[in-house]
Amino acid sequence: MEWTFDIRSALLVGAMLTLMIGLVLLVVGRALSATYRPSIRWWVGATLLQPAGFVLLSLRDTLSPYLSILVANIFVVLGMAAYVVALRHFYRLPSGRGPLALAVGLVALASYWWGLLDPNLTQRLIWISLVLAAVLGTSAAIIYRHGEGQVRHVAGVAFAGAAAIMAYRAVILVFDPSQVSAVFQLTHVQLLTYGMGSVLPVIGTIGFLLLCTERSQQALERAARVDYLTGCYNRRAIEELATHNIAAARRHGLPLSVLVLDIDHFKRINDELGHAIGDLALVESVARIRTLLRAEDVLGRLGGEEFIVLMPNADSASAVNAGERIRMSFSAQPLGMDGHPRTVTLSIGVATLAPMDFEFSQLLRRGDRAMYAAKNAGRDLVMPDAMTGWDHPAERQPA
Ligand code: GH3
Ligand code: MG
Ligand code: MG
Repeated sequence: MEWTFDIRSALLVGAMLTLMIGLVLLVVGRALSATYRPSIRWWVGATLLQPAGFVLLSLRDTLSPYLSILVANIFVVLGMAAYVVALRHFYRLPSGRGPLALAVGLVALASYWWGLLDPNLTQRLIWISLVLAAVLGTSAAIIYRHGEGQVRHVAGVAFAGAAAIMAYRAVILVFDPSQVSAVFQLTHVQLLTYGMGSVLPVIGTIGFLLLCTERSQQALERAARVDYLTGCYNRRAIEELATHNIAAARRHGLPLSVLVLDIDHFKRINDELGHAIGDLALVESVARIRTLLRAEDVLGRLGGEEFIVLMPNADSASAVNAGERIRMSFSAQPLGMDGHPRTVTLSIGVATLAPMDFEFSQLLRRGDRAMYAAKNAGRDLVMPDAMTGWDHPAERQPA
């Protein structure tokens, strides 16, 4: 039996596949974060427009040239442009619709001119291929310029490959128009083109879904490390970072200190001004502490109104100085608190990594103990842990 391959059937199968992958995306997209909705909508639009164009193209013998050339090609280029818009939404880039409108206009013009007015298949395909190469190349460029993770290669390679095939078709046709002397002629250029048309939506859409899930994953990981109220690190992240910093300090023989800070009489703020203002006090306290730290210091919330600063490469003296700087800033200047200005004071414990500290919990316990010593000594105080060897009364200024 002779083997036959019919481009029209392939076009229809490709169109069906594209439609189905669009439907899959529509369903899966509902499970993704709402922030992806606009880009998913454009992507689904692309997977509807492109097969519509392919179906019209495949009906060249039954439909008028107006539908099977002009409208068909406009649908295809609109589909390719929709991928670009979807990616621009995804990466939060400005819309850039101008050049896309120009691309659609050029395809419409080439289809009209060399399809209806003065039919010339070679000219028409050269121009349409060039424009599609540019539009597909734009998608690849966006993915490679703005994406970071490894999964970007799935969609990136799909679009770059598709752009290369379109550019190749334009170049081949310039030198050898016989490659496509009829629309459904079975040549390698045509096979590549229609193969690309069927494969790109499938691989491209899988790649796009991977980009969405990768970003969701990153957002979840970030959220799991950040305190929801104040935006500084939460306890879990601090424990991780501290373990890492302790290992590094030991390895390089460098000092490491922690400040444990607790807001004095915080319960009164809640009781007198309400929980919402209490929350605001926590947010403003974090913002204030941040401005007083070095770039390498790490601020975290241990819970409630208790915070910690990890200070890599800081010995007890500089940690006590930093604690004093923070303490004085709070006692000297009230927090704004949305029209309820109020002076809030801090009790601060300081502990410095000692040879017997192997775990963060040991360092934290000493920092905590020093903080409670500051509370017992009257609050609004910086108190170094006895183990840190820092005992300079001038630094312990009572309120
Ligand atoms: P001390 O000077 O001894 O530290 O007194 P304090 O009132 O600051 O300490 P205490 O532990 O008695 O009270 C802490 C308060 O912090 C009680 C709790 O309601 C409040 N708190 C904990 N987390 C939050 C929060 O996220 N928002 C608000 N508004 N209040 C919180
Ligand atoms: Mg407190
Ligand atoms: Mg407390």
